[in-house]
This record gives sequence, structure tokens and C-alpha cells, in this order.
Amino acid sequence: MNCLTVQERMKRLNSGLPIDRVPLLTNATVFSGNFARLTAEKFFCNMESMFHSQLMTRSLFGCHGAPSFSHVNWVGESLGSENTYANSEFGILIPQIKPIIKSVKDAEEFSLPNSLNTQVLKWRYEFIEIARANGFSKVAMTAGSVIEMLTQIVDVSLLFRWMIREPELVFKLCDQMAEYLLQIIDSDIKQYGVDNCIALFFYPMEAKGIMSPRLVEKYSFPYIEYMHQQLTERGVSNYNEHLCGNHNENLLFFKNLNLPSRTNFSLDEKTDLLKTSTYLGSDYIISGNVSTKILVSGSIQDVINECQQIIEIGKKLKGGFILAPSCDLPPNAPPLNLYAMNEAICKYGTY
Ligand SMILES: [Zn+2]
Repeated sequence: MNCLTVQERMKRLNSGLPIDRVPLLTNATVFSGNFARLTAEKFFCNMESMFHSQLMTRSLFGCHGAPSFSHVNWVGESLGSENTYANSEFGILIPQIKPIIKSVKDAEEFSLPNSLNTQVLKWRYEFIEIARANGFSKVAMTAGSVIEMLTQIVDVSLLFRWMIREPELVFKLCDQMAEYLLQIIDSDIKQYGVDNCIALFFYPMEAKGIMSPRLVEKYSFPYIEYMHQQLTERGVSNYNEHLCGNHNENLLFFKNLNLPSRTNFSLDEKTDLLKTSTYLGSDYIISGNVSTKILVSGSIQDVINECQQIIEIGKKLKGGFILAPSCDLPPNAPPLNLYAMNEAICKYGTY
């Protein structure tokens, strides 16, 4: 059933041409460090290890995605928040961020650094160079959401309180975060060329049950629109939009962003695959949305059954479909459950 190579398949999918089988993304970032038995320090602070551990799981499980800079909370860390790396007996833990802004005074006095010269940004550029030297020419640029990125420098409960009581302060921080992300984006575009740059957006804060729809409309949507507009003006044409959590009620907003054809919308299990594709239309690629819970605690057969159901809907989507976990793959998922995703594609994913 594999008539095409991974590269040929993705190239054809991105051009809207027919392919032989459903591609697989594993989102195995921190998972790869764990699988390679690395410590948190060795994975998060050593770019050769971060890259090659992902390269190995990618090749072992037949993944179609490129290794990514997976230094969790890197935006916050580069702005002065403290990021703690830790290991447990089960392996690497996801780093915990201690936001740098803890009071109104901190927020009022907060200013952007003068240069993009922090350790974590040096690691990011080093990772990009390693990836490019290994044939992965695309550079992923984190572009939002701005509110999500703010949670890496401001305590979430404080941010929610300020959204009600200190709107001007929240707008000030949003403006600063947007400006900072654009500084990094401009540097990437200058260094690597706009055609090699892919904009990444994640929307966990905007999901149902996190911020109220009223607050999303007031603080999030305007900055999401602003960042897309800024990227479009700079000539960015590749977008990856991760609808993290339940976004069934935000689909009209995303449709109205009028993103370029072949944009990839990656869906969480709480967002309906068929409804989203019907809503957004056939110009877009949809990826998703294998349950995190099943990938972590289900049996191999549970994973195959779950993937079968998703593939049967996904295969019919006109814009194209990629089988992928609902979100980032948890570091403690059993490796055989990734094998099971591939197995499900072999059984049910041929076109
Ligand atoms: Zn997610």
C-alpha cells in the first residue's frame, strides 16, 4: 500500500493531489526524549539529543512530520520566566513555568528585552540549524495565540482576574507579547526566507470551558486576527492551526480568517472532525484526533478501533486528512500504541 515515499506523499497532499494512504503524524516530541531514555536536561537543553531522539521515533513509527523544537514554554523562558526541568521514575516530566509577572506592579514595569540573545532562543536557532542540515528546511514560527503565550509570563488566575478588573493592563501585555512574537518572526523570515517559514498557532485558552466566550471575543480574537494579518502582510503562506480543546463553537471565527488553501487544521478529540471539515470547506487539510486517554491507557486493540473510526470519517474529507493524536503525545504513552496507529492505517487507511 506504500506506493509513495513519506516526502512524496506529503508533497502531494499539500498540493491537493490524490495520495495512496492516510499519512501519520505522531506529535512525539517530549515522548521521544523519554523513549530514548534521556533526562529532562539532556532533552530540553541539548539540541542534538532533542533532534535525533525525534528523528529516531519518526523513522521507527513511520511518522510524516518533521522533528520540532520542543523546549516547552520557551517563549516565557526567553522573557524571563523560570522554567523547571525534572525527571521522575517514569521519565521526563513536562517543565513547569514560574511566570515572571506576579503583581500589577510587575505587569506595569514589564518591558521587552533589547535583543533576541537569550539562552533558550540560542537553543532554538541551534535546533533549526541541525534540522536544516538534516534536510528539514521548514522553520516553525510560534505565532499565538497571544493570550496562550501570555500564560507563560503571567499566572493564569491573575490573568483571568485582570481580564475583568484591569483590561488596560491585559491589553498592554497582549500588545507586548504580539510585538515580541513578531520580532522573532521577522528574524526568522530574514534568516530563512518567507517560503521556508510555517506559522504555528495553538488555541488552548480559547477552547470551551477555559475563557468565557465574552472574554475570548474581547481579548483573544482581535489578536488572533492581528497576528494573521501581520503574517499575511509579510508574505507567510503556510499555516498550522491547532484547535486545542473544544472549538466546536468557534468554527465560524476560524472560517472567517480566510486562511490560504492547504492550511492544516489539527483537531483535538473534543472538536468534531466531520463538522469542522464541513464548516471550513474542502480547501483545508484536517489532522487529528485520536484520544489522548486511549493513547495513554488503552490497549493496542483500543487504539486500532479508535483510529479505524477516525480514519473512516477522515478518508472521505475532500481537503485531505492526516491521522494524528488529539494533542501533543504524552511522554508516558506506551510506544506500542504508536505502532497501533500505523497498524490501523495499514488496515483501513488505503485510498
Ligand atoms: Zn492540544
